[in-house]
Amino acid sequence: MGRMTATTPRRVLLAAPRGYCAGVDRAVIAVEKALEQYGSPVYVRHEIVHNKYVVQTLEKKGAIFVEETAEVPEGSIVMFSAHGVAPTVHEEAAERKLATIDATCPLVTKVHKEAVRFAQDDFDILLIGHEGHEEVIGTSGEAPDHITLVDGPEDVANVEVRDPSRVVWLSQTTLSVDETMETVGALKEKFPLLISPPSDDICYATQNRQIAVKQMGADADLVIVVGSKNSSNSVRLVEVALGAGAGASYLVDAADEIDEAWLEGVSTVGVTSGASVPEVLVDGVLAWLSERGFEDVEIVKAAEESIVFSLPKELRRDLRAEAAALTAE
Ligand code: SF4
Repeated sequence: MGRMTATTPRRVLLAAPRGYCAGVDRAVIAVEKALEQYGSPVYVRHEIVHNKYVVQTLEKKGAIFVEETAEVPEGSIVMFSAHGVAPTVHEEAAERKLATIDATCPLVTKVHKEAVRFAQDDFDILLIGHEGHEEVIGTSGEAPDHITLVDGPEDVANVEVRDPSRVVWLSQTTLSVDETMETVGALKEKFPLLISPPSDDICYATQNRQIAVKQMGADADLVIVVGSKNSSNSVRLVEVALGAGAGASYLVDAADEIDEAWLEGVSTVGVTSGASVPEVLVDGVLAWLSERGFEDVEIVKAAEESIVFSLPKELRRDLRAEAAALTAE
């Protein structure tokens, strides 16, 4: 890779799929619909999805984000974020007489159900995930006495179980597929009878975004990942890009965080975005690149996505009731 000259071809490889997944789309629409239906304020426990721009936009529309249910005035409406919550959070909300709307992604709920079922069968559950991440806190809360967190392959040496013949692994939905398989490999060496989850816990959106970035990685001198620093799946995309051979890779919330110096000697720039990122932010990055001569955009397509989730049931119920009332008028 030589220094860039006037004749260096400049191109952009744009990952597909990128950006919003079905769970994020549903959660963001749920907050918007709730604001339309009930009016402001609608309280949201934790960032509805891990994206600064999305949170700020919803705040402007009247959503109030809180860290804990205790901060929500009694009797108000509170929405739970896409990452899911522990059962204790539902109990706290009931005690405060809050009307809850649960925007937990159905693919996270699926992992919660797996945890409950394996705990009922008295398995030890090894939950692969990042310590402190909201999703992991929520899932662990389903069966705290049965779940042990395994935060990467280096954590495996410390893992203890009661009965090595009754152990299952589950995982956070937004991990690196390759690193998780490495962790599972190490766990299987230690516990040869370890059972795998009934279906993939790492969700389709996380997997597809990683496959696309892997395809472009080797050809890209630089990969720009649009996403917030607290977005697990976005951070993973940077790691996957570097692992696939990208010259460099950075995570930016938006175009204004790109450093001109990153373009030095670069002729191919890969662009992708995490599952919580609205396309307008990617458009901003493409415009920024285009102004600097990166006008050719080639799509690197890894998969078609057509999954759509229906809105949270509490919201559907109220929207239906309102539609019925309007028809009756
Ligand atoms: S990243 Fe996956 S698990 Fe998370 S909200 Fe999107 S579809 Fe659901």
